[in-house]
Amino acid sequence: MRLRGHHLFCASLFQGKGYNGAFAARMEEVLAALSRGEAFLLCEGCDSLCAACPNCRPGDQCALGTEDAARRDAAAFAAVGLIPGQRVVPEQAGERLRCVTEAQWRSVCEGCRWQREGLCSWGLFQKMRKQRFV
Ligand code: SF4
Ligand code: SF4
Repeated sequence: MRLRGHHLFCASLFQGKGYNGAFAARMEEVLAALSRGEAFLLCEGCDSLCAACPNCRPGDQCALGTEDAARRDAAAFAAVGLIPGQRVVPEQAGERLRCVTEAQWRSVCEGCRWQREGLCSWGLFQKMRKQRFV
């Protein structure tokens, strides 16, 4: 399993809604693997979730904004103090996610469609991050 930086946050906040059924099903698979404690590889560009997303395009491109996704990845890696290429277990990522400040969360999530629609928020992240990556 490969996860890009900002998907650590998306996996923390997932509540069943996704870009389509295939994407939501893949997220459920990823969450199940995390709950089993399976290690995963941190990566840049498209990951195991992007592979099931209707917005994924050849060459690591995202139809919703390749640069925007990469910027959120960089902010996420900076927030958790991890880097692409590292292999981590969920517990390690969870420890880092539980130290993320509101400003760091905003640096990753501010302006994202799901944040603007109210599905993702700092308050929900504070609650959900205790339940995932454990
Ligand atoms: S606001 Fe966007 S980037 Fe942040 S967790 Fe939600 S879906 Fe992911
Ligand atoms: S919207 Fe883009 S970054 Fe997000 S899962 Fe789909 S392809 Fe990946």
